[in-house]
Amino acid sequence: MSSALMSSYQRLPVAFVRGEGVWLWDTEGRRYLDAVGGIAVCALGHAHPAVAQAVAEQAAVLVHTSNLYCIPSQERLAERLVALSGMDQAFFCNSGAEANEAAIKIARLLGHERGLEAPAIVVMEGAFHGRTLATLTASGARKVQAGFEPLVQGFVRVPYGDLEALRAVGANRREIVAVLCEPIQGEGGVVMPPPGYLAGLREVCDRHGWLLMLDEVQTGMCRTGRWFAFQHEGITPDVMTLAKSLGNGVPIGACLARGAAAGLIRPGKHASTFGGNPLACRAALAVLDLLEQGRLAERAAELGEALMERLRRALGDVPGVVEIRGRGLIIGVMLDRPCGELVERALGLGLLINVTAERVVRLLPPLILSDAQAADLVERLGNVIREFLGGDAT
Ligand SMILES: *Cc1c(COP(=O)(O)O)cnc(C)c1O
Repeated sequence: MSSALMSSYQRLPVAFVRGEGVWLWDTEGRRYLDAVGGIAVCALGHAHPAVAQAVAEQAAVLVHTSNLYCIPSQERLAERLVALSGMDQAFFCNSGAEANEAAIKIARLLGHERGLEAPAIVVMEGAFHGRTLATLTASGARKVQAGFEPLVQGFVRVPYGDLEALRAVGANRREIVAVLCEPIQGEGGVVMPPPGYLAGLREVCDRHGWLLMLDEVQTGMCRTGRWFAFQHEGITPDVMTLAKSLGNGVPIGACLARGAAAGLIRPGKHASTFGGNPLACRAALAVLDLLEQGRLAERAAELGEALMERLRRALGDVPGVVEIRGRGLIIGVMLDRPCGELVERALGLGLLINVTAERVVRLLPPLILSDAQAADLVERLGNVIREFLGGDAT
């Protein structure tokens, strides 16, 4: 046990020393197929040569200046993201939680501009938005909040996927200024809202003059088969947050805003020392190039369909498997019982998986996964799950 570290994580007994594509190697030279991808971070896989070259080149020239000065690569990155998303402006930070903090601050600025003393934001049951005080308050899992009271004021919670509940809240809460929501709940267990939900959110927000703020930290950057998950429903949010895959492992987050939501952050209102520094922006620009050149949104859509089909064939009839769901390369296999121990069983077979919401095996593989690797993944995962469920039954 490494006692010099705070035990914020219950770590698995393995350390990786090298990666290449979808593979990782541990200190003993054992190879693992990585279906976690650093939790939806390494969309281009590990040690991608073009990303490595961009980072190395930039590190040798200029890593950091300050947002006191112009950063041309940050402006270019903002222009690219704005063009891809239909948003107007971007603010850069270093993580998903920080991106959501910026979104929350934007909503509050708008509220105060409208003369509301205590503006409120609607958030969802089962949501995950990060671990800062405001974002853990916005998150819907009690275990994320316990011990950190008093929580932050100004949040109203409704069930996820339930437009009627949202409409009911809208009818009698004049302090509401925004809705903050994940297009698919990742940490919450790969929970898919009903079709048309995002378009419905857009409509309710428009009716009340609320900002629609989508947390695409996990779903963004081609993961679901589009650049951003909201594009599946032909809408545009007012605020969108990104992080995870944006730098393929180099820390960077972004909060994008449009229309009334853009322009609220003025000098002195928000800042970040590291946010959008030359190194992080160079990495993100390389990531955008590669996602575009590789047509990886299309690839994620096609491979996601095929992968879920294979999983259904391998596991669909196995008693104990409740549902196989997802979109693109965010996939959940829901079991009828807690299955955290699957993670270590899979590790033993050279496969990295994640279990979230106790009963959901979550797959977030790199988008560069090949067909053969996808088949390999299903084979290994199928064996682990069948063995686990079968073993339990006897
Ligand atoms: C991971 C995640 C976050 C938090 O991101 P950090 O970089 O860990 O702060 C926020 N929202 C969603 C939807 C996430 O998946």
